[in-house]
Amino acid sequence: MRGRARRSGLWAAGAVAIGVLVVGASGCAGQGAGAGPGAPPDGTAAKSATPGPATPKKAAPAPAAPGTDARGVPLKAYTRWGLAGPLAPAPARPDRTPVLKASGPPVVLDRVRTRDKVVFLTFDDGAEKDPRFIKMVGDLKLPISMFLTDSVAGSDYGHFARLRDAGGGAIQNHTTGHANLRTLSYEGQRAQICHQQDRLAARFGTRPALFRPPYGNYNDDTVRAAGSCGVRALVLWRESMQIHNMRYAEGDSLKPGDIVLAHFRGPDELKGSTITEMTARMLRRIQDQGFTVARLEDYL
Ligand SMILES: [Zn+2]
Repeated sequence: MRGRARRSGLWAAGAVAIGVLVVGASGCAGQGAGAGPGAPPDGTAAKSATPGPATPKKAAPAPAAPGTDARGVPLKAYTRWGLAGPLAPAPARPDRTPVLKASGPPVVLDRVRTRDKVVFLTFDDGAEKDPRFIKMVGDLKLPISMFLTDSVAGSDYGHFARLRDAGGGAIQNHTTGHANLRTLSYEGQRAQICHQQDRLAARFGTRPALFRPPYGNYNDDTVRAAGSCGVRALVLWRESMQIHNMRYAEGDSLKPGDIVLAHFRGPDELKGSTITEMTARMLRRIQDQGFTVARLEDYL
């Protein structure tokens, strides 16, 4: 189905870019994100003025074992999965003011302000459960954030636990039933969001901090409802991966800190491509532009 989402324009106290006003969405989640006029220029968030004890900003890189790259990935793994060469290591976990707030309404974000040439991989829904994808994520050490919908992912949450463990990613909330939240009352939205928080917490042991509204559709009630369920951020996206190509929010290139949307989809939905082939193409687009992947939760 198609939907149009109007962003409510929340700002995260100077820390988060809310650039996109309208998201075109189709399929099980949005196919693209439009560039908005409100995105601030790239920049790192302000750091604390209080001097702390001297701590190394970055650990000295350990020498790579023979045949592996700086990420500890065997070079042959890149070849095996169809990449031309290694992904660059992500910078050390940023030392800065957290984007997520301990209290108050959740922030809404579609990218993270940073100068690092990193993007964040997010996968939605959870219908496709290809065991080869676990192998790929583990081989390449891909820290993917997984926004899971109970009605499609719930038949085998173990698959997603294995994906998380393989790549160091995280499990996040994408409602119980993939409803278009803008059509629901506040209480109806709360049920979709809070019940999935409860199920994911019971299954994975951690209550998600991040929530993605299906189709990118949300309103003020969504923000309030999500906050009441313990969500700290609504996570939208700047790019969406199609079967072969990336759809960009601005022009035809990635920007530092962009959040990239992909889906757990199989050959039936990818015109014969597998999720591993689609992911390899996505990684090549990222590499070709001199970017690498980082863990979204580390930047929040
Ligand atoms: Zn979805």
